[in-house]
Amino acid sequence: MVIRDKGLERRIATERIEILFGLAKEQAGKRGGLSKRYVSLMRKMSSHYKVSIPKEMKLAICKSCNDIIVPGINGTVRLASTPKRILYICSRCGSSNSLIYSKSAQPRA
Ligand SMILES: [Zn+2]
Repeated sequence: MVIRDKGLERRIATERIEILFGLAKEQAGKRGGLSKRYVSLMRKMSSHYKVSIPKEMKLAICKSCNDIIVPGINGTVRLASTPKRILYICSRCGSSNSLIYSKSAQPRA
């Protein structure tokens, strides 16, 4: 019987997710759809090993077309005033992800 070290598996999965994110960023805006493939592998790996994708990475992934949003290549970043938040807008499909940065708007723990 093989005993699995789940902590080790999760650490390796986290490392691979970071590597895939870097590769997806390099392929963003290029033809072939490799960045979408890398993002789908990231999502598959995070659900299989129960590892969450870091917030910064999640913000740069378009929810509707599954592509990486790289500002200046295939997306834009804007600061919205009410509520104070950072908007990542995908230029391919137009959907946006946002992150609230105002201290007063964030819920208290
Ligand atoms: Zn999109």
